[in-house]
Amino acid sequence: MTFDRRIFNFAAGPATLPEEVLKQAADEMLNWRGLGTSVMEISHRSKEFMEVYEEVIHDLRTLMNIPDAYEILLLQGGGLGQNAAIPMNLMPLAKNGPKADYIVTGIWSEKSFKEAQKYGVANLVASSAAEKFNTIPAKSSWQLSNDAAYVLYCANETIGGVEFPDVPDVGNTPLVADISSNILSKEMDVTKCAVWFGGAQKNIGPSGVTIVIVRKDFIGHSMGITPTIWDWSVQANTQSMINTPPTFSIYMAGLGFKWLLKQGGVKVIEKRNQEKADLLYSFLDQSSLYENRVTKEYRSRMNVTFFLKDENLNTEFLAQSNAAGLVALRGHKAAGGMRASIYNAMPIEGVKALIEFMRDFERRA
Ligand SMILES: *Cc1c(COP(=O)(O)O)cnc(C)c1O
Repeated sequence: MTFDRRIFNFAAGPATLPEEVLKQAADEMLNWRGLGTSVMEISHRSKEFMEVYEEVIHDLRTLMNIPDAYEILLLQGGGLGQNAAIPMNLMPLAKNGPKADYIVTGIWSEKSFKEAQKYGVANLVASSAAEKFNTIPAKSSWQLSNDAAYVLYCANETIGGVEFPDVPDVGNTPLVADISSNILSKEMDVTKCAVWFGGAQKNIGPSGVTIVIVRKDFIGHSMGITPTIWDWSVQANTQSMINTPPTFSIYMAGLGFKWLLKQGGVKVIEKRNQEKADLLYSFLDQSSLYENRVTKEYRSRMNVTFFLKDENLNTEFLAQSNAAGLVALRGHKAAGGMRASIYNAMPIEGVKALIEFMRDFERRA
């Protein structure tokens, strides 16, 4: 399939980016800021790149309303890297030996939970594996420990399409939130967690940079084995430049932040995201061909999963949607079915076009 126009891309990540951002990057590619070179080709320690870095930090602080008590780190290694970095940086804070609590609501938090077991005791607070990760376990069933360094949860499970509506209340234990796939999609009270982390490739820009927002008093407790590049204290002391940072990804994230500010910020995009998700879920709910299987109150606003009740139609559905320029709707192989990721950069027109196509496909099925 080839196209002579931009498609509506429902990929889960790397994901669609705002056209304006791509245009600006293209315009600046050969000669950035009159330097006669692209931003990719200059030193990360140059005055010009340091300006990019400062603006990125400033704009993210503004967008998420991040207090000064929090450090913003721009790292490499993705969310998966942080699955290792988090226990290495935080587990030593536990009072009876390295230990942390994990709430497992999908494939991503399950990965986090498994990785943590390499570094200490990882306690499984609750899991919705038996419910095929279609829900969040009832709070009354949670087995929180009283000597964990932190509780980790995944705010939005990208594969199952399950999202915590609010930051969970876990008492006095510090919270760590994986926001890889819903960062900047809605207002979040940063003070409610000790650490927030996620890669840029879902809701911000291209892959390559991982954002870690960490309260300053949680920095400086790392295990001796912690790799230098993932030691939050080392990175905090060097403006995340203990080695060469992913400069182009940082620059692109910066363009993404400017775009979001121009839209009116997180509050405005949250409304739009809610509207897009509502449209799609109400369509699914009235359909006799498609169904979403997630508990209603935990449905993700970013990753809308659905199944065709007649799975024999899957191949045809994917072929026809693709031909219509509505691409990457195949669900993750671990979950099956379909998934429409509708991040900040997906315009409402894309969601409407998808619904139109699905309605028509249902009529013809
Ligand atoms: C994509 C994703 C990850 C993994 O991110 P990488 O940058 O690929 O390591 C982790 N958690 C969630 C919720 C994700 O969506």
